[in-house]
Amino acid sequence: MAVEQGITKGDKKERKLTLSGKLYIPEVLKGMMFSLKHMFRPKVTIGYPEKPIELGPEFRGRPVLVAEKGTERCVACGLCARACPPLAISMQASETEDQKERFPERFEIDMLRCIYCGFCEEVCPEEAIVMSPEYDYNFQDRKDAVYGKDKLLKEKEEVQPRLDFLAKKRNPNFGEVYNFDPKNNIHTLRNRDEQ
Ligand code: SF4
Ligand code: SF4
Repeated sequence: MAVEQGITKGDKKERKLTLSGKLYIPEVLKGMMFSLKHMFRPKVTIGYPEKPIELGPEFRGRPVLVAEKGTERCVACGLCARACPPLAISMQASETEDQKERFPERFEIDMLRCIYCGFCEEVCPEEAIVMSPEYDYNFQDRKDAVYGKDKLLKEKEEVQPRLDFLAKKRNPNFGEVYNFDPKNNIHTLRNRDEQ
């Protein structure tokens, strides 16, 4: 109310208080009645953290790697790492002996960098990385914030609601239109280890 800031006593714009306004008590009682009325209404607040919050599959919590019977779907193509805006993903690809399939020997996400944008999930051609409903985690040390495969892998059944959600809502053209920044292609752990 910038206009009213300059009002001085006796100004024409000065609001005249009624008798009940001058007494204050009716206004205080009105406020108390308002509070009393809301005391008996259904509560909309949640007693977090004692009561965990149930979140739907549309929620973007921490990204996880999808595993099927203990084996990751990821083929270490590196697209997620290149799409990741804060450069949170690093990986080291390797090949299996028998079928010569690629897999991430190491896969890391720095959770202090992750901004939960979901770009990694959008570009992944294998539906191998998805956003989970997990939002409640903490670290005591910066090194603890770098999650490896031991913390990232989740069985498909655990993230099935998100996979179903993506089947309906995912933008199928995202990978075609996303402007991959060549500068982002610096993520292999081998490169990092050599530095
Ligand atoms: S959600 Fe976004 S910031 Fe986090 S790892 Fe995926 S692409 Fe990177
Ligand atoms: S985009 Fe998917 S398949 Fe490719 S490295 Fe990332 S998680 Fe693995």
